[in-house]
Amino acid sequence: MKSGYIYVLVHPSDPDLYKIGITTRKPEQRLAQHNSDYTQLTGRIVKETGQKWELKKYHAVSDPYWAEMVFWRATPLADIPFRQGIEVDKIEWEWVQAGLDAAKKAGVRPPPKPLPDHVYANTAWMNKRLAGRGITLVGHIRSKFGKSTFQCSNGHEWRTVPNDVAEGEGCPQCGIGEKDPEEIRQAIKPGILCLLIHPDKPGVIIIGLTYSTLEQCYEENVWSDWEIHRYRNVEEPVLAESLIWKLLGYPLPNDREPINIDLSIAEQSFRDLIPLMQREIALAEKKKEDVQKTDWTNMKWDKTHNKAPQPTPKSGAAEL
Ligand SMILES: [Zn+2]
Repeated sequence: MKSGYIYVLVHPSDPDLYKIGITTRKPEQRLAQHNSDYTQLTGRIVKETGQKWELKKYHAVSDPYWAEMVFWRATPLADIPFRQGIEVDKIEWEWVQAGLDAAKKAGVRPPPKPLPDHVYANTAWMNKRLAGRGITLVGHIRSKFGKSTFQCSNGHEWRTVPNDVAEGEGCPQCGIGEKDPEEIRQAIKPGILCLLIHPDKPGVIIIGLTYSTLEQCYEENVWSDWEIHRYRNVEEPVLAESLIWKLLGYPLPNDREPINIDLSIAEQSFRDLIPLMQREIALAEKKKEDVQKTDWTNMKWDKTHNKAPQPTPKSGAAEL
């Protein structure tokens, strides 16, 4: 983030005409540009009137884009869509002053809101399926069926539905990373966690975990005459199993024997399982990202300052 200036230009042809702008260079330099670039609206006004813009006021700001946003929020023009696209404005000076006062106090933009857990869980889900395929995910995955950006090892970048890539789609330009969906599934080993009940044994349940499909379980009669009452597809079967027992309030039985428990409690535990798993995965992902960020900053720090690695500053305010 580069610091800069927010500035106000006035034009002698009209006392209510202002140009509000931001720059990371000297305001005088920017002024000269406004007066000479006839491809821009400010320059065209100079050409038409034969009069130049003057620098009325400017203030140093640590985060120019943020200062500009704060400026417009302080004026009645904030609600006009595409506000930033309007080049020159006829507004009253009192509003310009109000905007400047706000911009001066703006400081740096607040840190972005943390991403929801399911976004981290989606991202982990995707990265597992990209392992060894020469494709990397750019950013996070908000929805498996929305659009995300991917990059291949040949440098191609494209946007597509994450689920399609998860099911084996490769780079649309060079084909790298294309993989058989069954191979991907076998590499990942997802599981299905089942809540099993028995028609003759009310109040008794089994928590079953399988790495096969439900069809295979029925065909092979894995659970004999126990019925699948609820099930959840789980990315991390071992984690899922430990969490479900936590939710049930029981230690994991050695041989997964039936236990006595109220069915409604077991059902509630199954409802709570996925959000709890996402929470756990999100925590692990955030830790991983923090480590990566720290590494990256330290590398940069090393190169430019030739100093020993320093911990990453928590806020983005300090400039290197
Ligand atoms: Zn490619």
